[in-house]
Amino acid sequence: QYILAIETSCDETAVAIVKNERELITNVVASQIESHKRFGGVVPEIASRHHIEQITVTLEEALQQSQLTIDDIEAIAVTEGPGLVGALLVGVNAAKAIAFAKQKPLVGVHHIAGHIYANRLEEEFEFPLLSLVVSGGHTELILMKEHGSFEVIGETRDDAAGEAYDKVARTLNLPYPGGPQIDQLASEGEVSIDFPRAWLEDGSYDFSFSGLKSSVINKLHNAKQKNEEILPVDVAASFQASVIDVLSTKAYQAAKAYGVKQVIVAGGVAANRGLRKVLHEKFENEDIQLLIPPLHLCTDNAAMIASAGAVAYRQGHRAGYDLNANPGLDLEQYGMRNTMKET
Ligand code: ATP
Ligand code: MG
Ligand code: FE
Repeated sequence: QYILAIETSCDETAVAIVKNERELITNVVASQIESHKRFGGVVPEIASRHHIEQITVTLEEALQQSQLTIDDIEAIAVTEGPGLVGALLVGVNAAKAIAFAKQKPLVGVHHIAGHIYANRLEEEFEFPLLSLVVSGGHTELILMKEHGSFEVIGETRDDAAGEAYDKVARTLNLPYPGGPQIDQLASEGEVSIDFPRAWLEDGSYDFSFSGLKSSVINKLHNAKQKNEEILPVDVAASFQASVIDVLSTKAYQAAKAYGVKQVIVAGGVAANRGLRKVLHEKFENEDIQLLIPPLHLCTDNAAMIASAGAVAYRQGHRAGYDLNANPGLDLEQYGMRNTMKET
């Protein structure tokens, strides 16, 4: 049974096909990073236009690579939100057009559910599990007691981790997206600056990164004023150390408190080498399995949407031809909608 999925929530046009929920057949990603680089971030209008240009060729490429035709596909899954509305609409309309023309069932997928389910293409889930979602727009700790159900136990109160990376990178005059650049610099520097860590109230699993971001900006500004030399590699290493410290400590505490069997890392920042290393060390001697997707499944792709979509499809979720892009789609509500239809 093949599920074809489309993802256009931000700046990658992606189409993938997954077999029997967990076997990745093909994963095509057309990235627009080059077009957004000179603006230092994603420009929504440009993103939509690129998606329109790329969607048909990306679909054709995915089918060609898999040697399948639309007739072989069981259902069409598509990211319905959250994301940029104009970008999401391109994918949603393409999915609706195929579903209507070929009379295939249509399944709407939450982008973050997708990031989490990227892991299931590598390893089967065991519940309860805790997911640490660290992406460009989200930083959350999510408890899952069964397939398709999501309970947010902690989230960022201001910036997302990826957003903090991108903003700090911009201050260091590094090109967009800044995450991979800082990751590289950090590996060459020393943790010599004591940047703050926002632990928040006792027992809180929430996050906050705006104070850290400001602290980095102030440090660079003051150094410039006083003509002090500070090495960008040291700023990167010290900033990254602070982010990783908070993320890994809160994930560890939550995993223990909720007695989970697995900890699943998801989203673009899961590609961070420093974070991957520290998490491995933290969970190495624990009776908790740590899953981190391979690099190509960390950042946006459609394989993860096919993976989450296949589960929603099995649970009975069907979208109508009135499916709309939903830029503010809530993860917990999305989960309830899907699991309630299970028979
Ligand atoms: P969301 O998934 O929340 O809607 P998004 O789709 O834009 O946001 P992703 O594609 O999941 O985000 O991830 C992109 C983010 O990941 C960017 O902020 C980027 O800087 C960051 N990122 C990518 N690789 C790394 C890395 N090696 N280290 C740190 N951050 C990274
Ligand atoms: Mg992206
Ligand atoms: Fe994403």
